[in-house]
Amino acid sequence: MKAFGTQAAEAPLKQLHIDRRAVTPKDVEIDILYCGVCHSDLHTARNDWGGTIYPAVPGHEIVGRVTAVGSEVTKFKVGDIAAVGCLVDSCRECSSCKRDLEQYCIPGFTGTYNGKDKHLGTQTFGGYSEKVVVDEHFVLKVPANLDLAATAPLLCAGITTWSPLKHWNVGKDSKVAVVGLGGLGHMAIKLAKALGAHVTLFSRSPGKEQDALDLGADQVIISTDKSQMSSVTGKFDLIIDTVPYIHDVNHYIPSLSINGTIVLVGYLGPLDPMLNSVPMILGRKSVAGSVIGGIAETQEMLDFCGEHNIVSEIEMIKMQDINEAYERMLKSDVRYRFVIDMASLKG
Ligand SMILES: [Zn+2]
Ligand SMILES: [Zn+2]
Repeated sequence: MKAFGTQAAEAPLKQLHIDRRAVTPKDVEIDILYCGVCHSDLHTARNDWGGTIYPAVPGHEIVGRVTAVGSEVTKFKVGDIAAVGCLVDSCRECSSCKRDLEQYCIPGFTGTYNGKDKHLGTQTFGGYSEKVVVDEHFVLKVPANLDLAATAPLLCAGITTWSPLKHWNVGKDSKVAVVGLGGLGHMAIKLAKALGAHVTLFSRSPGKEQDALDLGADQVIISTDKSQMSSVTGKFDLIIDTVPYIHDVNHYIPSLSINGTIVLVGYLGPLDPMLNSVPMILGRKSVAGSVIGGIAETQEMLDFCGEHNIVSEIEMIKMQDINEAYERMLKSDVRYRFVIDMASLKG
């Protein structure tokens, strides 16, 4: 089938041909309608984290229509709208999988792309393609009232911010701050607000106040302004740090409440400057990390978004515009997520 991907880290993405496995008894085949564009897509295509197997076909924010189901599939039928996020398989047996935490599968989950297809033994290919074949356990149902294109980013940006909000019990009267207003940050604001929290955006520079308030934030703090920062000392129960590059996490710790947590969801790698334990010890504060969410939790997030009419803010592109979209994403020149109209690949 047709797909869009790359044969090398330095090469632009272009159209290529991939093979998918035939539908097995537990599989669902989905004709892909929309696919969101995540920073991880770019990092994988360019081998920024090492380990990319080529050809690489990114895309893990997938929404489409079921075109075939295996004989043992019970959750879906042909014609249903379905979604696939960042993982398409896991061991199903380890202590994490048994607790619906497939994202922390101990032998490792199978990524939607650049993972290892257990049936074929080859690398998995993501959503920049005509169709995808996935075990029904890893396929999500989409609430009927949501715009399908704007739902796609919920499958990564949405669940990545929902999971820490739930894990740290955010609800009415919680005080939550978000660092960074991009694909992840704008979803964190919407979801935290809908859970009843008081929501603050930390922004490095002025100019994003109105956007943040429109998305549901109650307050914007310019993090480079000392007096604004001291006005929120000891305030936040949870800070969701979505910044995707190396940055000073110490800067935000004074604004955590006693027992507060700052959770990193955007940046993978060593921190510089190093963490200073003093404010953590003197305030029983935590620095944590979190990755996407389990399948049950992802369904819970989608259902919540259906009830509260929450979707992502998107800019629709054609598949052929992906290389330009990557360059714009590197400059944060997108409000707030690119979504590919997959009709452009099929046409
Ligand atoms: Zn992603
Ligand atoms: Zn497992």
